[in-house]
Amino acid sequence: MEKINIFWFRRDLRLEDNMALFNCLENCREHGLSFLLLFIFDKTILKNLKDKNDPRVQFIHNTLSAIKEKMQINGSDLRIYFDTPKLAWNEIINEFDIQNVYVNEDYEPMAMKRDESIKNLLIKKNINLKSFKDQVIFAKNDVLKKDKKPYTVFTPYKNTWLANLKPQDIASVKIKNLERLALKLEPQKMVDIKDLGFKFSEVKNSVKSIRKKIINEYKEKRDFPGLDATSRLGLHLRFGTVSVRKCVQVAYHSDEHTWLSELVWREFFMQILYHFPHVENGPFKEKYKKIKWRNNQREFKQWCAGKTGYPLVDAGMRELNETGFMHNRVRMVCASFLVKHLLIDWRWGEQYFAQKLLDFELSANNGNWQWVAGTGCDAAPYFRIFNPETQLKKFDPDFIYIKKWLSDFGTVDYPEPIVDHREAYNRALLTYKLALN
Ligand code: FAD
Repeated sequence: MEKINIFWFRRDLRLEDNMALFNCLENCREHGLSFLLLFIFDKTILKNLKDKNDPRVQFIHNTLSAIKEKMQINGSDLRIYFDTPKLAWNEIINEFDIQNVYVNEDYEPMAMKRDESIKNLLIKKNINLKSFKDQVIFAKNDVLKKDKKPYTVFTPYKNTWLANLKPQDIASVKIKNLERLALKLEPQKMVDIKDLGFKFSEVKNSVKSIRKKIINEYKEKRDFPGLDATSRLGLHLRFGTVSVRKCVQVAYHSDEHTWLSELVWREFFMQILYHFPHVENGPFKEKYKKIKWRNNQREFKQWCAGKTGYPLVDAGMRELNETGFMHNRVRMVCASFLVKHLLIDWRWGEQYFAQKLLDFELSANNGNWQWVAGTGCDAAPYFRIFNPETQLKKFDPDFIYIKKWLSDFGTVDYPEPIVDHREAYNRALLTYKLALN
């Protein structure tokens, strides 16, 4: 049997500027090996997705179908398995004679556990697992304080991040000889989405290009949800269909660096989750565990459905439910309303967003929810409570955004506010004060 290298796709679903794939091909070239591309639909992850119309599964499926087609044109294939990673790898090891397996690092706690167990399985068969940094510019301990401890405040983290940045950190890698080095294989049919237990679902508004105009105007326009003024790249950064190095190259060389800061926020929260994995299950700051949430089920349902009677909150939740996207300013207002006005545990909201957001990212979602709730590392102070009416006047003064998402706005069908702003504001302040003093 021919000895080969394998490149295992996870959250890096692209054939361009892909660090582990680049290294895999370099190794093949040096040692006269062929390579095989691989993806595993992880049964345990898919089983836990409640919505069987989940557009994220469709997005992955669409992206893999395109890669598979491209490889088949070259007489090779992208091998797809639908199993637990362990069982899938047992099968792969039996089927191929493997020298090295190439992966890009994944820093989520569950992914790290998975990789550790696969690494051990491969070692027993004398196969090397070679991993690379690809989904971020700086990971793990790349950006630390002078005392070698992780940063917990954003601005000094960002300053060190920027000071550490060298041209080679954002240089793209060119994938060469893909066709020539690909293992020749009998093509296999793409797995049907139905066989994965899902239904076809449309993936809406998934712009993939890095739009320079948006980046240059980002600072002035990013807070207005009625405008198309943010990159919409979250989904692509999540699944690696765009390279973060390319994003940072464009951001760094643009006239204005506010958008670059957002990419640094992304890495800030990733390193928080990496260094403080307890945030996955509870507040960064211990003392916030004492907050007495009201957790009213009926009000939670009204919030989820976009029926709170506060137009900016409702428009945001309905946009989320319909498209899987919500504008950042509106995410903050909706999250603040749930946590402060309704005094519902931020983890309920975090979980709802995790189910619905196309760009769902554990670190960013958790970090931002904790930021809003005041429980996070560099969080908004607890007494900062967004007034949804004032936010509407400021950021959607002509009602462009809310009219787009609220067909019942201004009609008798539109609900009355479920809480009075002033009363809810005072109740939140009192509850937080009682918990923290
Ligand atoms: P742009 O505004 O164009 O920003 C570019 C990229 O920078 C984003 O795609 C994202 O990767 C990153 N980014 C921007 N803002 C943030 C931020 N505050 N924190 C971390 N990264 C950021 N972002 C996610 O990627 N996944 C989530 O699950 C997520 N959940 C959130 C939950 C709440 C309650 C809040 C308030 C924000 C959340 N965000 C999350 C951050 C932010 O809202 C989205 O990244 C952004 O709205 C995505 O739109 P965009 O792609 O047009 O981003």
